[in-house]
This record gives sequence, C-alpha cells and structure tokens, in this order.
Amino acid sequence: MKNKYLLLRRITQIGILALFMLSSCDFILKGNLSSSILFNSISLSDPFAYLQIFLASFSLNFGLFISAFLVFIIYALFLGRAFCAWVCPINLITNLAGVIRQNSNLKSSKITNFKQNTRYFILFSILLLSFIAQEPVFEKYSHIGIVTRGIIFMQSSAIFVAIIIFLLDLFVQKNLVCSHLCPLGAFYSLISKFSFLKINYDLNKCTKCMKCKTICPENQVLAIITKNSGDISNSECIKCGRCIEVCDDDALNFNLINFMKGKK
Ligand code: SF4
Ligand code: SF4
Repeated sequence: MKNKYLLLRRITQIGILALFMLSSCDFILKGNLSSSILFNSISLSDPFAYLQIFLASFSLNFGLFISAFLVFIIYALFLGRAFCAWVCPINLITNLAGVIRQNSNLKSSKITNFKQNTRYFILFSILLLSFIAQEPVFEKYSHIGIVTRGIIFMQSSAIFVAIIIFLLDLFVQKNLVCSHLCPLGAFYSLISKFSFLKINYDLNKCTKCMKCKTICPENQVLAIITKNSGDISNSECIKCGRCIEVCDDDALNFNLINFMKGKK
C-alpha cells in the first residue's frame, strides 16, 4: 500500500488521543503525553518534562525518574525522534498546513527567517528558565500540552492554539513550528544520536528524482542522498516514512524492515 506509514501514523496518533479520552479504556492508557499509566501498572513520563521538573525543584523523585528514564531509553536506543511523527498531535496540524502549502505554492513571508537551530536555543533557554523560575515552564505553557489537554478534556483553548500553529506553518514559514521552534522535537533529536531505527538509502536504486527531499519535513537529514548508500544518521529525522512512500525506485526503507528481510 502506497501510504501505509501515513495511515499507520494517523491510527497511532488518533488512537493514543482516543485512549486518553475514553475513561472506559483507562485500564489500557490514562493520563496525557507528559505523564501516563499503561495497563494500570507501567508509569511513563516525558523525559524533557522530568528534566524541567528536576531543574525547577532540585529534588529527585525516584518514581518519576524511573518512568521518564524508561521513555528516554525507548527513544534514545530504539525509536529516535519517532515521537514527532507517530505520537504528537501537533504533527497532524503541521502536516495539514504542509500539504496545503505544497499544493498552493505558498511562499514564506519575509517577516521571519528562523534557522532550524533556533529550536536548540529555545530548548536550553527553557531549561534555564525552569531553573530560574522554579517551575517547569514548557510543561505549563507548551503548545503540545495545551492542544493535547484541550483534546482530551474538550477545551476550546486547543482549537485556538491549533489554528495559530496552522496559520504560522501555512503563511509565515514552511515547517516553522516543528522544524524550527519546538524544543521537545529538539530534545528528541539530541537524545536520538545512537538510536537503532533509521532510514536506509540505496544509491544503486536511486534515480535522483528528489521526491524524497521535496516531501521530507526535515530535508537537511537527506544530505546523504545521491552521495553514498547507508543509514540516514541525522537524528532530526522524525521516522515518518514519507520519503519511503514517495520513492518509486525502492531506494529508501526503514533499516528495521531491511534487517527483518535479511538485507544489510
Ligand atoms: S517538533 Fe514538537 S510539536 Fe512538532 S511533532 Fe515534534 S514534539 Fe510535536
Ligand atoms: S528522512 Fe524520511 S522518515 Fe526522515 S523525516 Fe524525512 S521523510 Fe520522514
């Protein structure tokens, strides 16, 4: 199926939100993206949220540490920055803006020209601010928290913030929120340097059509294309699989799929 990863991602993203919303399913998953409980027994916490809480309070809550460490290990060792493409609800909004942009040839406004590294500056500023203000600032005021809680508890604030994100990505700058500003995406990029899951590129199959680079929301990660075969090592890749889906030459695939098929 052509768009199987897109379909799977939408099922995962909406499914997670639905589980949070349905109290009748709280034996499967309850809480929100910052802190949740799986099968009434496994605590999961956002490691970036934990870091802010630690810097704000300078106290070590052992239970919280373990639940954040578990999530940290899952992404750092295996999934990489997959949170952005497979879990975060903001991705639904920014993808929609991206599709409209692409099909309407909208140009970025000249008002802003944020570099992709801006997100790392914001990330470290937030950690510093959490320490100074003695509160986890991103947790309290983040666009992800407002939209997620808004969807779960049916608050109108979610619609308001979602519209702002949509308009920013549509009219101000391409992929502005997720590829330039979001500190959580930057955090997952930083911890994913050595994660297993990667996109693999086969130079011998590539016909240099560049459809992958056109569709990729973080196309700087595809610098390897046309140069060498191998894994895309840039950890800013969100593992969305769009590059795989648009490639008619079978030159890209998840390394996990190649591994399971016994290819190198
Ligand atoms: S970059 Fe931030 S807002 Fe965008 S998908 Fe990732 S965590 Fe969500
Ligand atoms: S390289 Fe592929 S999987 Fe990674 S972000 Fe780009 S389109 Fe998505």
